[in-house]
Amino acid sequence: MENLNSFLSDLINKYRSETSGATASYIPELSNVNHDLFALAVVTNKGEIYQAGDFNHKFTLQSASKPFIYGMALEEHGREFMRSRVGVEPSGEAFNSIVELEKNTHRPYNPMINSGAIAVSSFIQDKNTQKRLDRVLKMFSEYAGHDVTVDEAVFDSEKKTAHRNRSIAHLLRHFEIIGDDIEESLDLYFKQCSILFNTTDLAYMAATLANGGVQPKTQKQVIKKEFVPDMLSLMFTCGMYDSAGEWAYTVGLPAKSGVSGCLLAVVPGKLGIAAYSPLIDQQGHSVRSVMAIQELVEHCKLNIFAN
Ligand code: GLU
Repeated sequence: MENLNSFLSDLINKYRSETSGATASYIPELSNVNHDLFALAVVTNKGEIYQAGDFNHKFTLQSASKPFIYGMALEEHGREFMRSRVGVEPSGEAFNSIVELEKNTHRPYNPMINSGAIAVSSFIQDKNTQKRLDRVLKMFSEYAGHDVTVDEAVFDSEKKTAHRNRSIAHLLRHFEIIGDDIEESLDLYFKQCSILFNTTDLAYMAATLANGGVQPKTQKQVIKKEFVPDMLSLMFTCGMYDSAGEWAYTVGLPAKSGVSGCLLAVVPGKLGIAAYSPLIDQQGHSVRSVMAIQELVEHCKLNIFAN
């Protein structure tokens, strides 16, 4: 692995010239970013770090937060309750689709798409909204290995323009998947999406899942080991939305993307991979990050089915 730093730099140089994609304009604040930013990081289960490019640049987690909040809700409510409210089937639809709520069970297909994730955030309960957020921030701090904060400008920007997510939340309430605290739960969801991470932090988060829930640097058990397979299997089948099949076929790793341009992938038992670059494709995945991780996985033979 000695040459991994230089291989990551080569990938950055190779794919930085790729300029297809766009920023997620439906959250206006996400467009205020330099399109050239590009970073890659790998953290092994033993805590070795490899990184290249703009790995100190902070971005908001967006949907990369979803598997981790799902893990938190599993610890709080158990598998049976969670499965009664949110399914585990890939949707084949866009991340912000509303169609499944109109189908027979009226249940979100899975916790990786917005409908499922908004429901999951509503299940993180405490005395008041601030306490709910404090617990979420504490959990993400434990994954990162240091304190994390919310980007208030991105939060405000999403809250103001979230007509679609707000309509999803009201449908969830209509079908009695969630309770009456619709605005509070949406706020919590927008806040978790606005948590600031850099690419190395994100690789630590992926490595924690690769390491059975133990953060490689702090050695803290951040999530119960028994729930890690729930998170990874859903990342594998649903984490890349309506290109999850393509990703599974070409990369063969559990992964999750965020519309800020971040992407994390997990090699169970071995390491976590993270990438960031803001231009995203139609499905909401960072174009450069997908290309670079694809090549990294092929080069290092990390596809779980090839081993
Ligand atoms: N906050 C975004 C939304 O709810 C997250 C979407 C994503 O990152 O895929 O639309």
